[in-house]
Amino acid sequence: MNIIGIDLGTSNTLACVFRNGEAVLIPNGEGGYLTKSAVSVMEDGTIITGRAAKERLLTHPDRTAASYKVFMGTEWDTCLGQQYFKPEELSAFVLRQIKQDAEKFLQEPVEEAVISVPAYFNDNQRCATKLAAQLAGLKVSRLINEPSAAAVYYRWSNPDAEDGKLMIVDFGGGTLDVSIVECFDNIIEILCIAGDNHLGGDDIDAAIAKHFCEVNHLSQTALTPEEKAALMRQAENAKTALSEPETDSSLIKLPAGEKEYMLNLDRELLAKLCEPVFKRVEKVLRRALENKKAARGIRRVVLVGGSSRMPVFHDFLEKLMSARPVIAADPDKIVALGAGVCAGIKERREELQDIVMTDVCPFSLGVATYNSQIDREPHMAVLIPRSSMLPVSHSSRFYTLHDGQEHLRFEFYQGEDYFVSGNLKLGELKVRVPRGIAGSQWAEVVFTYDINGILHVGVESSGGDKRETVILNPNLHLTDEEMKEAMERINSIRLTTEAHRDEQLFAQALSLYERLGDERRAALSRGLELYCGAQDAQDIIAVRRAEEYLKELVERFREELSQDPFAQLYGLGMDWDEDTEEPEDE
Ligand code: AMP
Repeated sequence: MNIIGIDLGTSNTLACVFRNGEAVLIPNGEGGYLTKSAVSVMEDGTIITGRAAKERLLTHPDRTAASYKVFMGTEWDTCLGQQYFKPEELSAFVLRQIKQDAEKFLQEPVEEAVISVPAYFNDNQRCATKLAAQLAGLKVSRLINEPSAAAVYYRWSNPDAEDGKLMIVDFGGGTLDVSIVECFDNIIEILCIAGDNHLGGDDIDAAIAKHFCEVNHLSQTALTPEEKAALMRQAENAKTALSEPETDSSLIKLPAGEKEYMLNLDRELLAKLCEPVFKRVEKVLRRALENKKAARGIRRVVLVGGSSRMPVFHDFLEKLMSARPVIAADPDKIVALGAGVCAGIKERREELQDIVMTDVCPFSLGVATYNSQIDREPHMAVLIPRSSMLPVSHSSRFYTLHDGQEHLRFEFYQGEDYFVSGNLKLGELKVRVPRGIAGSQWAEVVFTYDINGILHVGVESSGGDKRETVILNPNLHLTDEEMKEAMERINSIRLTTEAHRDEQLFAQALSLYERLGDERRAALSRGLELYCGAQDAQDIIAVRRAEEYLKELVERFREELSQDPFAQLYGLGMDWDEDTEEPEDE
């Protein structure tokens, strides 16, 4: 049985498997490990994912989606080309690609996965993630909170580290998760979790882009989708460049309309633009530290997630916490590595048998209730308080409010607001009760929150009426028939690997071919042959190499033609020296 660990991130998706006593990252078809969480619909209706899709955000923003993870579990959808897609469908395409890459790597089918989710993901978002995996043909053997996965790997890969408490800050592209973890021997106990599902590096890019428009007197809304995408990309590149110790400033340039606009981003300006984002980070940190019992005696702050590479972020944390944080080795891969270790635990790998990890419930869970008949607005009767250790089960009895009442109806909520109107409704159940005077009849509500962070509810009335449900967002809960249809729809769309043909290059080569002499024609023909052959084999690395080779040939022959107009007509007068080397087979 192959179970893989997947970090389905806002910006990147990674997969990992536990083999020969190690967590091994699974390479993608691009020759790396980080697959961009981006999806683009090609003109022929096929789908590409990964870096090529992210690139198309610049050229085809109307056909491309990225950072859709922030909409998981909501009603949001987007039209790419002529089709509408929901976030879980977009995620399913990336997961399908990951599944294919893993099967190629392991040379065996992969049907199960441990998937990491932001700790602060609510029930809807967790269910949407499960649905995405199902649509991609993967059974989810466990959803694990991202910081918990990071903690598992951190502990597992630092066996000699002292026992004690760690604060793990996972600052990614679109989410922030903070958890306090206690490590003792092989026991990793998550003590408390706080987070913000809409806070990450993307917000910093947006702040830079906004400032760019302000200083250049540009209206952001007046930019074309292509210009907007180019500006966001430039903003991200400039931000990333400033994480290098030797870079003090980075120039952002944007050609828009007739003009070119510029902004010089230095560290000081970046720190200033990050201030509102960091204020929100501080709020989340304070919320975690409010749990005094968990927070007492934290030995170390460990940073993970792509945005934790920012020196301005380290400075901010150092000031706030009066201690320099430790940046985890591979901060953008640690969650995937942790998910890989958890997959190994699920596979019952011997080397991992001693590891015990306990997790907590990030939100309070409760029932809408009225204290008396005069209560205008229902408030939340908490059955499972936040930070309860998982799995957890609690019950409570609720009584009738009116004489002759025949039913008790329960609405279930998740959140920290006193009034339920400020919390997330998860579902409802109704049971019959025998008629009687107010307060004489009751129903017992049992909440069980499992290790995947999914709520099961059971209600039994004094009259013996029983109801049970697993809370699933009705918008996400598909019947078997609907599930089959959704899977057919997803599977009917062909997934093209990154080996998509560069049509422009292809067209240039063909037009050049006509104008060349025999020797060069033969060379170009060989280049085209290699390119098409690699594409037929769907070997992405070979396609990349062949593409570079063909590009070199095209550039070189064009240059030579431009220098010798006579040859343009007759293909004469040029010596073909075979300087350009054919790509080698691996
Ligand atoms: P993650 O969701 O953990 O993959 O993190 C993605 C986020 O990290 C994106 O917002 C990236 O722009 C950001 N990021 C990645 N590398 C760097 C870097 N070297 N410096 C600053 N931000 C980075």
